[in-house]
Amino acid sequence: MSLHLEQVTKRFGHVTAVDHVTLHIPEGEMFGLLGANGAGKTTTFRMILGLLEPTEGTITWNNERIRYDQSHLIGYLPEERGLYPKLKVKEQLIYLARLRGLKKPAIMKEMMDWLERFKVPDYVDKRVEELSKGNQQKIQFIAAVLHRPKLLILDEPFSGLDPVNVELLKEAVIDLKRNGTTIVFSSHRMEHVEELCEHLCIMHRGKPVVSGALKEIKRSFGKKNVIIHAD
Ligand code: ATP
Repeated sequence: MSLHLEQVTKRFGHVTAVDHVTLHIPEGEMFGLLGANGAGKTTTFRMILGLLEPTEGTITWNNERIRYDQSHLIGYLPEERGLYPKLKVKEQLIYLARLRGLKKPAIMKEMMDWLERFKVPDYVDKRVEELSKGNQQKIQFIAAVLHRPKLLILDEPFSGLDPVNVELLKEAVIDLKRNGTTIVFSSHRMEHVEELCEHLCIMHRGKPVVSGALKEIKRSFGKKNVIIHAD
């Protein structure tokens, strides 16, 4: 059940957002996509999710093209967090989990386990708009994983979180990986990728400039930290 991107390109008019990206991500891997603003990470994710069609190239999961109606297989934390502000946390999570085919008793159990894990069980009856941005982000993360997807796409999962919540989220993704979830996440920051991933791709203006095993990349760069420059 590996994820394959073969020579994937996406153009928006004259803008080439993603330029011949090839990635092979085996099942159960945690893979990091690194790059500054505008590098093409979100566009790559939207193509993996089937929300955008590649202009060229193919994307397959388990040797088949991913369709937009396979949302039960995939979990997605979008970069633009988008919860319904007026809904209570539990209403929000039940609504999204039901869309992915989960039954209510299973949702309630799983939801309370996650809220406790993220140290916000009391927020279950609060409206989303009453929560801080960081806590909303944790709720959105729970929404992405509640249906136990096989493939989890996290767009900048750690941005905007304080260090305590970054640690909580890191531990959660490590456990999901341990349970066999394939995880692809993007970040501006090498340190997150370094800590969590064995393989990574660094994108710059749509192109994969460096791709492969973290150890190899570090060796070839000849230093501990690869720095991602913003334009
Ligand atoms: P960020 O972290 O800022 O989201 P990113 O690495 O995710 O950056 P993308 O959002 O994929 O980068 O954008 C890559 C390029 O494609 C940018 O130049 C962006 O302006 C352009 N782009 C993305 N979506 C569209 C669109 N729908 N129409 C036109 N250009 C787009």
